[in-house]
Amino acid sequence: MRIDLHAHSTASDGTDSPAELVAAAAGAGLDVVALTDHDTTAGWGPATDALPPGLTLVPGAELSCVADEQGRGISVHLLAYLFDPASAAIVAEQQRLRSERRARLRTMAMRMAADGLPVDPDEIFALLPEDAPAGRPHLAQALVRAGLVKTVDEAFAEYLSNGRGYYVARQDTPVETAIEMITAAGGVTVLAHPYAYSRGWTVSAETIAKMAGHGLTGIEVDHPTHDPAARTELRGLASELGLLRTGSSDYHGTNKTIGLGDETTDPEEFEALAGKASGANVRVG
Ligand code: AMP
Ligand code: ZN
Ligand code: FE
Ligand code: FE
Repeated sequence: MRIDLHAHSTASDGTDSPAELVAAAAGAGLDVVALTDHDTTAGWGPATDALPPGLTLVPGAELSCVADEQGRGISVHLLAYLFDPASAAIVAEQQRLRSERRARLRTMAMRMAADGLPVDPDEIFALLPEDAPAGRPHLAQALVRAGLVKTVDEAFAEYLSNGRGYYVARQDTPVETAIEMITAAGGVTVLAHPYAYSRGWTVSAETIAKMAGHGLTGIEVDHPTHDPAARTELRGLASELGLLRTGSSDYHGTNKTIGLGDETTDPEEFEALAGKASGANVRVG
């Protein structure tokens, strides 16, 4: 059983459509793939409709959240699986976040244009659905198209990372609120890439323990941004706190170099995770 529990489609900032993503998952030899677009469930339907025989789809989302770390707000991503997508609280919060994402990306693009960089905010948004959860990878692609940088990674390093002058923050959901909202909708939650040091400040073990107290189900231990030391530490923390452990690629198509199935989840951990959820069913092709 090969299980990858974190992948993005064109419903957010991946480059494979939901249908292409499930085909690619089968092609990569996966038995189970989770679709976890940022702040939207728009890909669930098209991915389900295109499911190849033998592949199981876990419907999910990656929620943009903020955690309090000794008085400082730290950006954290929460993977949510198998929740009721019709939950009024979730629908409203995801809508708010998508609108927040678009406003923030437009501000970033306008700041760059004002600085004389070859970025046209209207052109970027013309390529996206009206209700899209726009993200920095969309802006990165525009920089690649304009010839300013060669790759999305280079665009992040030079222009888009937190700490660069063009970065604009969002009003994300307090992570405890998000955990409770997903739990109330029958879903389960996994803290995504908690120790992705290269992306800036990360939460402490104490803060993860607080999330566990609010009902967090698991930790994404094996993630491309985690070095061996981070994985060892998180594995220990998960067993200490009674949390499940997952592993996932965080596939974004050609926006990143990682492939589907490059990191995977233990079947026992996945069974335990799915067993705790009641808001939506896995879809079997
Ligand atoms: P945003 O959602 O707009 O804050 O942008 C964050 C997204 O960009 C996440 O999905 C990350 O996976 C992706 N990302 C962050 N850093 C990089 C990077 N260096 N190269 C490519 N993608 C990145
Ligand atoms: Zn992303
Ligand atoms: Fe993430
Ligand atoms: Fe992700």
